[in-house]
Amino acid sequence: MGKNRKRFSNLRTVISVTSLFVVMVFVGSLLAMKLNQLLIEHMEKQVTEQSTLISEQIDQTISIQFVQLNNIAKALENNWDNPEEVLRTVKQEQEGISVGVLRLDGSVLTGAPLDMSLYEGVKRSFRGEAVVSYVEDGGMVFSVPVYHGENVKFVLYKQYAQSVLSKTFGRDCYDGEGHVLWADTDFKIVIPFVDSKYSGEFLQQEEIQQGFKVIKEKMDVDTAASTFVKCDDGRYFMFVSEVAEHGIYAVGVIPEAALSDGIMYITTLVLWVFGLLLVLFAIITVYLFITAEKAKESDELREAKEEAENANKAKSEFLANMSHEIRTPIHGIIGMNEMVLRESQDENIRGYAKNIKHASENLLEIINGILDFSKIEAGKMEVEEGTYALNSLLNDVVNVIEPIASEKGLKFNVNINDKLPCELHGDVSKVRQVMINLLNNAVKYTKEGMVTLCVDGKRDGDNVKLRIKIEDTGIGIKEESLGKLFDDFERVDLEKNRNIEGTGLGLAIVNKLVQYMGGNIKVSSVYGEGTVFTTIISQKIINSQPIGDFKAIDESVNDSIHTESFVAPEARILVVDDHEMNLLVMENLLKETQAMVTTCSSGKECIELMRHNSYDVVFLDHMMPEMNGIETLECITEMGLKKNAKIVALTANAIVGVKEMYISKGFDDYLSKPIDTKRLERILKNFVPKDKQKKIAEKDIDIEIKSENRIDVQLINQSIGLKYSSGRKDMYKSFLEIYCNFAAKKVEQLTTSFECKQWENYVTYVHAVKSTSLNIGGEKLSWFAADIEEQGNKYLAGEKKALDYLISTHDEFMKLYEDTYQEAKTLVKCLE
Ligand code: ADP
Repeated sequence: MGKNRKRFSNLRTVISVTSLFVVMVFVGSLLAMKLNQLLIEHMEKQVTEQSTLISEQIDQTISIQFVQLNNIAKALENNWDNPEEVLRTVKQEQEGISVGVLRLDGSVLTGAPLDMSLYEGVKRSFRGEAVVSYVEDGGMVFSVPVYHGENVKFVLYKQYAQSVLSKTFGRDCYDGEGHVLWADTDFKIVIPFVDSKYSGEFLQQEEIQQGFKVIKEKMDVDTAASTFVKCDDGRYFMFVSEVAEHGIYAVGVIPEAALSDGIMYITTLVLWVFGLLLVLFAIITVYLFITAEKAKESDELREAKEEAENANKAKSEFLANMSHEIRTPIHGIIGMNEMVLRESQDENIRGYAKNIKHASENLLEIINGILDFSKIEAGKMEVEEGTYALNSLLNDVVNVIEPIASEKGLKFNVNINDKLPCELHGDVSKVRQVMINLLNNAVKYTKEGMVTLCVDGKRDGDNVKLRIKIEDTGIGIKEESLGKLFDDFERVDLEKNRNIEGTGLGLAIVNKLVQYMGGNIKVSSVYGEGTVFTTIISQKIINSQPIGDFKAIDESVNDSIHTESFVAPEARILVVDDHEMNLLVMENLLKETQAMVTTCSSGKECIELMRHNSYDVVFLDHMMPEMNGIETLECITEMGLKKNAKIVALTANAIVGVKEMYISKGFDDYLSKPIDTKRLERILKNFVPKDKQKKIAEKDIDIEIKSENRIDVQLINQSIGLKYSSGRKDMYKSFLEIYCNFAAKKVEQLTTSFECKQWENYVTYVHAVKSTSLNIGGEKLSWFAADIEEQGNKYLAGEKKALDYLISTHDEFMKLYEDTYQEAKTLVKCLE
């Protein structure tokens, strides 16, 4: 179909070009004809002018004849007695020329006799005229009157025989190329051309006679005329011009070549140039045609490419949307199945449920992979750069991988260079995903032994080139498979990996993310022994202070807390936070201490309480509406209400340098939200007066729900939740309950502020979601909230474009919130 259309359009182009060419040739011919015609007309005019000159010259010749004869006539008038004597003085030696004097009766007085009856002109001379007359056989006679007194007495004549006429009067023109003859009033030839082909038969030709006719017509209004004739033996110009009043015409024939040599050359030149122009035109047309064809082809190619890209994008968008939609019911299935597993005692049903669990987990993993991949493909991958603490990134990664590694009985080693800068700028969520994907694979493809994460770095100006090495003692990869490892949907060594679920998307996503961040990734492997993935990603250094010993933090998360516990029933503690949920969490965390805990939700209330009571420790939230934490502290100090109280800032924005900032503002310390129980304990130990602290027996707190008791949920990392719950299941459960109880209210606040475009409120609510979600282990939601908060703050600071992010992510964010809430609900039930 396309081919036919193309062929048809080619044919159409060829036809139009040919037609144009034919039209141009036609126009060219017309032009040439017109040019020729103009030239002929121009030359006819020239010839006519020339003929006038010629007839003047003939007139002069005739006049000379008359002058001579008149002189003799004068001599005769003065010498009547001896006319022979007078005539003798006229030369008569030339043959064919005779002179004589005739009487009125025609008899000859002297000289040669002449038959007067043949020559009409002689008779007219007796009436006093000088006349030239012609008789075909007799030749030409010039006659003048001879006077005696007032009367004409004789006529003097001079006769030129026919045989001498041409020789005497014949002449040429145009440098001998043209010939002139004399004719009478009927255009009968009087003096033919001398030794010329232009006589006799030549003049009788039909075309020449036709030419005379044309000239005759022209002569009706003019005394001279010319025309162009074409006859068998050539092309000629003919002219006729009247010779004064002698009844004689000058007739001429000139070959065209004699006249128009130069002009014809110009005509030929013009035609040549025109021809060349035509050829040039043809070449240009062909060239344009070819380039237009090529342009059209590349246009078609571009269009096809665009179409393909759009189709691919549409496909990816569809996949992204679909996979997002599919995830929700899968979460439902997993949650409900979990209930079945927990509540059913029937071994058969539990067996089925375990199968459902396994299958749905796989399905979820596949869907997550497709979602990530299609998001990248659809160009929805956004730059989400920001400042982050390297420690917290590593913590997140370790918290995700540690449980799955230990579940498989693998040792998970973490080697972090303690000199690495503590605060970086970059797209932390992408770096996190790269690390988690690679580590997930390492665990997945390793049956026994260990998985090692090494993070090192090299300074490169303002940046650090993070070198992330993930090593395993797993099945390894055959050398020939290494090349296609990063291809989309590519799985290798299928005989061996048959039982390991996967889509072949993980490494493709990793590769795309690394490339997107301008980094690179390499793999080396010994088949059967293990694999090493090394990726280098450059990140900007914000704070080059070394992160220190990472293990210490790591251990704090995973190990049981062996802590020298205390209670302080006399201690008075005030907690100020505008979020009720945070107050409840704090109350729960402080329950252990048996301290007297008072809570309030604004700076004003805090001041009021402090005016009437004294507290040992005040936890004062920074971000509060109306009067924030710093402003509240300023008032407290100004009013002298601080007394012995230690004031600790509560913040959800724990970045490096924040402690110094709070101390400079008059705080005694700070505590980041969600609250790390160890830090809280340390703060209490430092700030609650020693005499109010009562030691209790050292106790082991079970930080983890044993892996076999772990509830399988996707969005809530229970290790993190437990970390923020002093490792206590009951406390974790209460936090989850609090979280669920507040969810509806939070959702409403977020929705209303979003719909009413109250962006400041919206950002504040998102900010709260960030810490409250992390508190229960909802890290994904917390990361998402952190991103939105960052963009929201940018928008509030005047960066208008940042609002797009808030608008475009709202639905996804709310969906994730809903999913996390559902998981939290499931967890609460399971923890009962
Ligand atoms: P999959 O979903 O199959 O894991 P990936 O893209 O993550 O997809 O990996 C592609 C293939 O690379 C896997 O099917 C596996 O054969 C191989 N592979 C990836 N990581 C490892 C590893 N650490 N050890 C051995 N083989 C690996």
